[in-house]
Amino acid sequence: MKANLDVLPLNSWIDTNGKPLIIAGPCSAETEEQVTETVRRIAKEGYAHVIRAGVWKPRTRPGSFEGMGEAALPWLAAVKKETGLPIAVEVATPQHIELALKYGIDILWIGARTTVNPFNVQDLADALKGVDVPVLIKNPVNPDLALWVGAFERIAGAGIKKMAAIHRGFSNAQETKYRNSPMWQLAVELKTSFPQLPIIGDPSHMAGKRAYLFELAQRALDLNYDGLIIESHRSPDDAWSDASQQLTPEALGEMLRELEVRKPSYGEDFQSELDKLRQKIDNIDRELLEVLAARMAVVEKLGEYKRDNNVAVLQLDRWKQVHNSRAEQGKKLNLYPEMVEELFKLIHMESIRKQTEVMNQQPA
Ligand code: PEP
Ligand code: MN
Repeated sequence: MKANLDVLPLNSWIDTNGKPLIIAGPCSAETEEQVTETVRRIAKEGYAHVIRAGVWKPRTRPGSFEGMGEAALPWLAAVKKETGLPIAVEVATPQHIELALKYGIDILWIGARTTVNPFNVQDLADALKGVDVPVLIKNPVNPDLALWVGAFERIAGAGIKKMAAIHRGFSNAQETKYRNSPMWQLAVELKTSFPQLPIIGDPSHMAGKRAYLFELAQRALDLNYDGLIIESHRSPDDAWSDASQQLTPEALGEMLRELEVRKPSYGEDFQSELDKLRQKIDNIDRELLEVLAARMAVVEKLGEYKRDNNVAVLQLDRWKQVHNSRAEQGKKLNLYPEMVEELFKLIHMESIRKQTEVMNQQPA
């Protein structure tokens, strides 16, 4: 994806002391007591840099709790004053933005059900013109990278430079292990296209269940994400929304302590050793490609020979023999069997394509 985004580094607007950014808080602000107790307990644990809470809740179906709205904003302003922690809320309309800013909310996020709609995102961008507030953008519910990028472009168009992506996974048509499929490759693609854009993992909305939070959070850190946003409630089972995926502030602390942050080591030895290994990989890859090209040259000869003797391209017995013997050799070399199988399927497909091409050429 070609484009450019003018984005400031995360540590220019939030100090995490070199650690991954942790945003914690309830799915929804429910009552003043629930907000106050939850945030106090999170603050006491000491891991959070930002508090999250949903005030306007876009629910999939009507009739469920849709958030306390403006009434919840003074509760958040009060815990901010008490703990000194900045507050993030979800905004979905220009009026939400106006109210959030009026009550001193520090960070806004755009939810997955809003990112899908360019008109909606443009309305938010228009309302943000001339405002200096960080905006986090969740991936759209559908796995469409361009739609996600488009939302960044619209918000950037309003002059916002403090932006980050929140990867919360994508809706499933069928029952799957996770509530939302992570489809990590999409986020990796976003990171590759916009290396300067910070990315925050949202294991809560990927998981849907407490039991999967740890593995998803660890995976995000292994992919070098800049932070995590995780839902925490004083009494998760009693939560008015997303009850089964929330953790108590203390359980979240325990989980965060068990996560491993793979710190990049900047020692000179580390870098030169890494460079040496990467150079080896580069050389081996070059050889791999040369070997493949040599194989293709033989395939071309084979195609000509088959053509001149009027033999069909695909000889099933031969393919079975290739398949079995390569699987056998791969096993002896300790290669992952599925990888060997997929690799030779690809090579075989290309070999058939090449031979078919040769078949249809007139002999020289
Ligand atoms: C939330 O963060 O509580 C929320 C509604 O998330 P999403 O937009 O990812 O569904
Ligand atoms: Mn939620």
